[in-house]
Amino acid sequence: MKRVIALFSVILVLNYFHKAVFCQENALSAVTGYEALQQKIQSLDSESDLLTTEIIGQSVEGRNLVAMKFSAGVFGTDDSKTKVLIFAQQHGNEQSGKEGALLLASWLLRTENQSILQNMDVAVVPQVNPDGSEANRRRNANNADLNRNHLILTEPETQALHHFFKQYLFEVTLDVHEYSPYSEEWKKYGYRKNTDVALGSCTNPSISAELRELSNTQALPYIMKHLEDMGFKSFVYCPGGPPELDYIRHSTFDINDGRQSFGIQQSFSFIQEGMNGTDMFAENIAFRARGQMEGMAALLNFVHSNAAEIKETVHRERLALFNADKTRKVSIQAIHVSDGRILRLPLFSYRSGRDTVVEVKDYRPVVRSITDAALPLGYLIPITNNELNVWANRQGLVKSALPSDKSLRYDHYFIHAIDSIDFEGDVTVDPVAELMPFKELFVPGDYVFYPASQIKGNMMAIALEPKSILGLVTYPLYSNLLVAGSFFPVIRVTEKD
Ligand SMILES: [Zn+2]
Repeated sequence: MKRVIALFSVILVLNYFHKAVFCQENALSAVTGYEALQQKIQSLDSESDLLTTEIIGQSVEGRNLVAMKFSAGVFGTDDSKTKVLIFAQQHGNEQSGKEGALLLASWLLRTENQSILQNMDVAVVPQVNPDGSEANRRRNANNADLNRNHLILTEPETQALHHFFKQYLFEVTLDVHEYSPYSEEWKKYGYRKNTDVALGSCTNPSISAELRELSNTQALPYIMKHLEDMGFKSFVYCPGGPPELDYIRHSTFDINDGRQSFGIQQSFSFIQEGMNGTDMFAENIAFRARGQMEGMAALLNFVHSNAAEIKETVHRERLALFNADKTRKVSIQAIHVSDGRILRLPLFSYRSGRDTVVEVKDYRPVVRSITDAALPLGYLIPITNNELNVWANRQGLVKSALPSDKSLRYDHYFIHAIDSIDFEGDVTVDPVAELMPFKELFVPGDYVFYPASQIKGNMMAIALEPKSILGLVTYPLYSNLLVAGSFFPVIRVTEKD
């Protein structure tokens, strides 16, 4: 009898072992690892003349960052075409973006979809963070959150992406992510978000109002309808909550993420957030990948049908960035506010096990600027200030000589004190700064001039104004730029009245 029990136990253990190994293998094979991804891209590339690949950079651990470039001609050379950049997996534990990007690549190469490339060139970077992906970890190998790194650009992965953007000045960008709705806080609340694919547009008030309007009234409804038609629950990206504890908004207005860092250069720019598995890895990966792909494909279809209007608006707004108009302003402090609407938020009820709708009273969909800075003609950075010049170079800021046809005025900020301020739960530095005329002998050779009339003009002002709650001084790396009782090192150059 003992023997029979022992044998039975052995079978049970073996069976358990087999199941564990099998499930793990199954899960692993469902997610494309780095090496397999390179092979898949190579084999797609060799199958079709529409696709060329480019290595746009390397990760911290030396893995290649690859862009798949789809074009019916020579990529990026035909100005009549709208250029689209889709990038995924900045966060390594959001696996479905990469898988969806691979599905999209196959979709684009199917004969019936190739008409899309008549008026568009499409670049897809399926994996911005391969090191994080291999470890199924959010951050890169330097422990940096890449999607908070687009202003300071300290990481090779974000540097590569912005360098690639600059090469082609894409008119449309989409940053693909996943969100996780399974927190204890929401469980306690009794509900959780259950949207398969959420979509977000830009919210920073210095991004073209016209592009934001076109996103919110036309592009997002089009993409969401397509997703619903294909069997995926879709809604506008609504971080925050649970209701009653925290308000609901449309994500941050900070320009340090993928969506807004390209948006602030007046791109038609979006974020897509699929829903992660409870294991934050491979659970339900085929469905998640398909949802991501359908969202990306719907954006491409929308751009294909509205290419002329999008391209024209983007170009007009970009031209305005080159206009040194004295009335130009950028928002350096803003808050989320209500517009009186009550949000009907789709949620999953833990109690009933079904989807339901909850009315959210504290809904703040509008970003209102509370402090604007007038744009100067440009900023002067002392040549001796290594960290600021390194930053300007990483951002690829254009330098020029000081304008010789205007009578110029030089001002700089005196920092009386450094306070802190609570902006929607984020405590950030708040210098008491007073703008004063520059009284020392001005030696032009001691400074590098960065004119505001460039594609990154708005970004530069938001980064360099010391009172900006999105500025460089809010990052530990640059906090030493603020010294109480001293002048801020950057000089504002304006035209004398
Ligand atoms: Zn993410």
